[in-house]
Amino acid sequence: MDTSLATRLAARDLAVIWHPCTQMHDHETLPMLPIASAEGVWLTGHDGKRYLDAVSSWWTCLLGHRHPRIVAALKDQLDKLDHVMLAGFTHEPAIELAEELVRIAPKPMSPPPLAGKGEGGGTATNHRSQTDDHVLRRVFYADNGSSAVEVALKLSFHYWKNVGRAERTRFIALTGSYHGETLGALSVTDVALYRNTYAPLLLDPIFAPSPDAYASEPGESAADCARRRLGELRAILARHAHETCAIIVEPLVQCAGGMRMYDAGYLTGLRALCDEFDVHLIADEIAVGFGRTGTLFACEQGRIAPDFLCLSKGLTGGTLPLSAVLTTQEVYAAFYAEYAAGKAFLHSHSYTGNPIACRAALATLSVLREEPVLERNRMLAVHLAAKLAPLADHPHVADVRQTGLIAAVELVRDKATRDPFPAAERRGLRVYQHGLERGVVLRPLGNVVYFMPPFCITPDEIDFMVEVAIEGIDRAVG
Ligand code: PMP
Repeated sequence: MDTSLATRLAARDLAVIWHPCTQMHDHETLPMLPIASAEGVWLTGHDGKRYLDAVSSWWTCLLGHRHPRIVAALKDQLDKLDHVMLAGFTHEPAIELAEELVRIAPKPMSPPPLAGKGEGGGTATNHRSQTDDHVLRRVFYADNGSSAVEVALKLSFHYWKNVGRAERTRFIALTGSYHGETLGALSVTDVALYRNTYAPLLLDPIFAPSPDAYASEPGESAADCARRRLGELRAILARHAHETCAIIVEPLVQCAGGMRMYDAGYLTGLRALCDEFDVHLIADEIAVGFGRTGTLFACEQGRIAPDFLCLSKGLTGGTLPLSAVLTTQEVYAAFYAEYAAGKAFLHSHSYTGNPIACRAALATLSVLREEPVLERNRMLAVHLAAKLAPLADHPHVADVRQTGLIAAVELVRDKATRDPFPAAERRGLRVYQHGLERGVVLRPLGNVVYFMPPFCITPDEIDFMVEVAIEGIDRAVG
């Protein structure tokens, strides 16, 4: 351990680096923390201090830092092939990964017996849901989450143009959604903090009300709230379907928008509405994919398959940037023509399908396939829920919610009215600071303290993480 090295690194950093999602001025009072190494759920600073990574390093580090099977795969791949462009060339890792993604992707399923009631789903009349149209058979690689969203938006728009429906130029997104920071992805994002400044540069999507259960009417269940929101979406589609390419959603949990959670019946009904109005469905599982919500993909809980599935973050177990957009044969076929027809999707990123990243992804997927990760996650989720339960009685907590291994605590100024703390008070920042003092990385989203730990976390580590968070909450609201 070397405290002076840590101090020197922090000073050198602040002299040259402009950090993401940061008002750099904050670092006049907040420490910059140089990290020297990591293992499992733990990050270790150059000063020897350890931090439990309760947010999986922006939700990327799925299985834990430096998972031995991923590390071994990376070393092996480095000895063989570092990179080759994916246009005109291919390689085994990209092929094998695409085969595996197509194999495990959510499949269209018949709706559950009760979901056929009302707007909840099962009422689809469009022939497309009866065929294998929603089977995801094609993989387009990119290299980060936002670029995957760009690809999905462009593919959907371009599909409609290629099939002679060029009047379809708009997208529908949900209020409170987050899909990334590049201009297209930011366009379908509804988080004012990130969006408002750039609004004049953005596309003009239609925002449909989120089925967010926290915003449900008094006495309304999450399922009822979802049904009501589907009714509102139906009205929007009735007006706008003719000009709409796709609806994009974060299945089950709107993560960066404050870990807002909703009933899976919304997904079932959404799929049915997309079929009925002949609009694409883009599922952005960049944050929730790969077992985070209790099933391998969140879409499975609504028993649906989208027309486009965006994957990234946990895909490589948090080691390297990579993303993939899965789509149907029907979409692929709309682009397949003689070159002169001008139908090709001429989109690229230099590191598309990088072999080392693909090998990391293959190792991640083999762990998910061969080890009882999802079963263990279910046990951990029960433990986490029990540990968080007492917070429901906290005078400044309006909601404790959880979907699989994502849990969130909504801090409010007034519990009875749910009046939030003013954003300018930065209560979440106080929780963050307390977490760092005690050795837990908690990075609240405004007034929402959340947990999204690596899957290797132990029950004892969950206890520590939650204890520190509760201390931090008490300090922050005091
Ligand atoms: N979609 C979702 C749902 C996300 O949570 C994120 C990242 N937080 C993105 C897209 C963007 O991914 P990236 O940061 O890799 O561009």
